[in-house]
Amino acid sequence: MTTVLDMPVAEKPVPTRRVPAVHPLDGKPSLIGMTREELGEALAEAGVPPKQIKMRVQQLWHWMYVRGIGDFDAMFNVSKDLRARLDACFTIARPEIVEDQISEDGTRKWLFRFPPRGAGRPVEIETVYIPEEGRGTLCISSQVGCTLTCSFCHTGTQKLVRNLTAEEVLSQLITARYCLGDFPDRDTPDGAIVPADGRKITNIVMMGMGEPLYNFEEVKKALLIAADGEGLSMSRRRITLSTSGVVPEIARTGEEIGVMLAISLHATNDDLRDLLVPINKKYPLKDLIAACRAYPGVSNARRITFEYVMLREVNDSMEDAKALVQLLKGIPAKINLIPFNPWPGTNYQCSEWEQIEKFADYINQAGYASPIRTPRGRDILAACGQLKSESERMKKTERLAFEAAMIANHGGGDED
Ligand code: SAH
Ligand code: SF4
Repeated sequence: MTTVLDMPVAEKPVPTRRVPAVHPLDGKPSLIGMTREELGEALAEAGVPPKQIKMRVQQLWHWMYVRGIGDFDAMFNVSKDLRARLDACFTIARPEIVEDQISEDGTRKWLFRFPPRGAGRPVEIETVYIPEEGRGTLCISSQVGCTLTCSFCHTGTQKLVRNLTAEEVLSQLITARYCLGDFPDRDTPDGAIVPADGRKITNIVMMGMGEPLYNFEEVKKALLIAADGEGLSMSRRRITLSTSGVVPEIARTGEEIGVMLAISLHATNDDLRDLLVPINKKYPLKDLIAACRAYPGVSNARRITFEYVMLREVNDSMEDAKALVQLLKGIPAKINLIPFNPWPGTNYQCSEWEQIEKFADYINQAGYASPIRTPRGRDILAACGQLKSESERMKKTERLAFEAAMIANHGGGDED
């Protein structure tokens, strides 16, 4: 019998480009990820007269988020003198692209390296692009590593390096769009904002490394900028934030960010969920489900996605399927069945394909859309739960050299 594990994966290694670290040790603060207000303050600091601030903020916003440029020099409607002053104080540089891999199925995974910018050590972040018929989804990380230790997740085996800043969250989108040629190269009479349908990245999901609700403020800032209609202009309905169940932050996600919610459910009773998703011990199913029912804006048109990883003989019986339907009764929900993606050292196995289909059929008949998520990018370890950044690889020697250079350049060390 064929299981997903038998599906073909690339036999030859897919070419990987690993570029040596040549990024300048740029500790200047980035303007990417600042709110309009913060941007105004930064411009005032750079000596822009108060009367010009609003106009300059608008210009910069357009260049950074509509045109996606990574260099002040390209801003031809900003005077040379101001460009030089901005460049002396700030940066809008994109991260260094350390690796750029393309899977046999077209999934693309980047490894981005960000300099410290005073937020701690330099970090390497994985971001994944999944092209599909009529849409393209970017899977964005919110932390390097994760403090939660879901037993089936590769990221959970990497201890938290640190939270990402709003710049780092947002730059994943900007840099991916740049690499895909998804920014317009000129303004048109109607402005340069490309309608969502004409873009390569139509959707974003906060489903990369980390627990986004443990980094609420920075994720919020980044997503509000991503959704800003005068900039990156992503529709909030095409932004999905996935959480393992940080109950106290769920209502705020709806109220303050207004994006679609996905819950990593994976089990229908507390005993099993405690084992699979240990945060369940803190916020058990009863509280999680109550928070979902109360999610601001939830309706049949704006359903909550429940993610359910299919683990062989762990949570994939027909009793589990029945319990799932029972548990979600009355919640406008979609159920996303994720075939387990194996990683080196795991004890779990993916359910048999036939069992996944039986499970899906049952849920479908109970009235829930229950797509089975096709594993994408397994050959380059880009599939759900397989990400584990190379920050661990950037150990001692490389980091020490990096930090020593920072101290030499700026007269101070970076803090964790
Ligand atoms: N931390 C957040 C978002 C990142 S994980 C969360 O847990 O929701 C994105 C999804 O991939 C989650 O539903 C997660 O449970 C699932 N996942 C993790 N490891 C997996 C694996 N090995 N195979 C399949 N899905 C996995
Ligand atoms: Fe963290 Fe999500 Fe992985 Fe759990 S599934 S360890 S919350 S990244």
